[in-house]
Amino acid sequence: MRRKKKTLNSKDYKALFLDRDGIINMDHGYVSKIEDFEFTEGIFKFVKLFSDAGYLVFIVTNQSGIGRGYYTQEDFNTLTQWMVEKFEAQNVHIEQVYHCPHSPDENCHCRKPNTGMIEQAMETYEIDLAHSWMVGDKQSDIDLAINAGVGHSVSIGMKPIVHADVHFGTILEAKQYFQENTGKIRDIRASKV
Ligand SMILES: [Mg+2]
Ligand SMILES: [Zn+2]
Repeated sequence: MRRKKKTLNSKDYKALFLDRDGIINMDHGYVSKIEDFEFTEGIFKFVKLFSDAGYLVFIVTNQSGIGRGYYTQEDFNTLTQWMVEKFEAQNVHIEQVYHCPHSPDENCHCRKPNTGMIEQAMETYEIDLAHSWMVGDKQSDIDLAINAGVGHSVSIGMKPIVHADVHFGTILEAKQYFQENTGKIRDIRASKV
């Protein structure tokens, strides 16, 4: 862990947990190269709405392509560093990227919908999970939110995902919704004091 626990006046941080493939980038299937990484329309502004409201931003991503041998840990690290820099260039800070490198048959504790990645974040940050958000395009993302106690969730894609609080076809639509309804994410607990 490169950071100490972040706490401010015993107030916990709210967090925005983002799935990667299908949320941050178009899910072309096992994306591992910069040239195949296509940001979804509106993603920078969507994330900025939350970070401006005081949320810490985390990415939680299943990367079984590593465990399956489709690409390496180093490929993932290179792509991740590039992706985080692209966010920084838009003045959006990604606090941390957590990934599960295992294949499903390894039965690990970090593969969504298991809660290992959220627990990893909780080791480093004081997060008010009940007032945090998860955004994903698969049932395993929304189930992670439920399993870990993340209070709110957004599903993105062709059809709504069971148990998601709100659903949008695209990230762009989600961005427009939260832009017009900032009260959903801005309340007294969201401010960094
Ligand atoms: Mg996904
Ligand atoms: Zn894992």
